[in-house]
Amino acid sequence: MIISTQPFLPPKDDYFSMLSQVWQNKILTNMGAFSMRLENELIKYLNVENASLLYVSSGTIALQLSIKALGLKGDIITTPYSFVATTSAIVWENCTPVFVDINPDTLNIDPSKIEQAITPNTCAIIATHLYGNPCDVEALEKIAKKNNLKLIYDGAHAFDVKINNRSIFSYGDVSICSLHATKIVHTAEGGFIVTKNEELFSKMCRMRNFGFSTNDDTISQVGINAKNSELHAALGLCNLQHIHSIFSGRKNLFQRYTEQLKSLPVQYPHRALGSTNNYAYYPVIFESEEQLLLIEKKLIEKKVYARRFFYPSLDKHLPYVQVNNNCKNAQEIIPKVLCLPLHNNLSIQDIDFISSIVKKTFTDFFQLKNKVS
Ligand SMILES: *Cc1c(COP(=O)(O)O)cnc(C)c1O
Repeated sequence: MIISTQPFLPPKDDYFSMLSQVWQNKILTNMGAFSMRLENELIKYLNVENASLLYVSSGTIALQLSIKALGLKGDIITTPYSFVATTSAIVWENCTPVFVDINPDTLNIDPSKIEQAITPNTCAIIATHLYGNPCDVEALEKIAKKNNLKLIYDGAHAFDVKINNRSIFSYGDVSICSLHATKIVHTAEGGFIVTKNEELFSKMCRMRNFGFSTNDDTISQVGINAKNSELHAALGLCNLQHIHSIFSGRKNLFQRYTEQLKSLPVQYPHRALGSTNNYAYYPVIFESEEQLLLIEKKLIEKKVYARRFFYPSLDKHLPYVQVNNNCKNAQEIIPKVLCLPLHNNLSIQDIDFISSIVKKTFTDFFQLKNKVS
């Protein structure tokens, strides 16, 4: 059986030796030594030394803290093509998501459609770097500045992505990332927030810990428990030690797919110019949803489980969301996107096997039809 994603796990002994330090210190949480070290290593690794980074218990809480700390109220412009947490965080914080359509090439929110959706009620933009492909950060920044909107990036898929040699997390008022087990680098559960705004950072530090001031026991504002544990942080530190093999392994598999599938009449998201790829996902845009469904079925027959990340469009199926703008591109494209399995436990042979099923389905069912039409 081949599943779409599986976590990278460091050698057990590495992790266990860190755990024995935890047993010695008897500090399990509350920003202990491992959590602090993880924050510092992430800052260095991601090259965001001119910003501050906050380790929290999930990517979702990272989004919610950002919205709360920025004091957002009203409408937030966002993308219909993302994981549900991008939208649910907005609703959970009592704001209203306003969906703006995606660019059909990049699959990210289309900046040229944002201004027409701005009203006096709009307070912010939350954009997702879908599949780790950077949004048009220059255009978004311009729009946010001009219209006095806050800009939050959901970089849950974008660990280590750079654009023009600059970390993707250095853009926006705030950028968040997820360190969930399904993401490239993980701490089982976890996430982080990056911001250059020192005041906002201190506020989020307090909010992460029930509102307690960072140097005494006074409480100056409402907070929540968004801390993560030392056990999680230790796992993250172990994973960071293997980061180069995590990326090179994924890159090999990714390139093998591309090589194997190059003759097929399918499309891929266009990557932002000047950006690096972190090989987080292998999304394929098929010619039609029927084609995708047949391929998905043929894969399942061979016990290969690809996933339709993130179907259907967020403006269409959430009971707590009022349908607002008509996101035509999202409606048309999302049903045609299938993410092929990609994780560090797969081999080149697995990729060849998966590719052969996809190719065979094309020769058996679609090639002829293509030639005729
Ligand atoms: C995974 C994910 C999140 C949520 O992160 P968690 O750490 O699972 O809470 C948010 N946004 C996107 C786009 C994601 O893929």
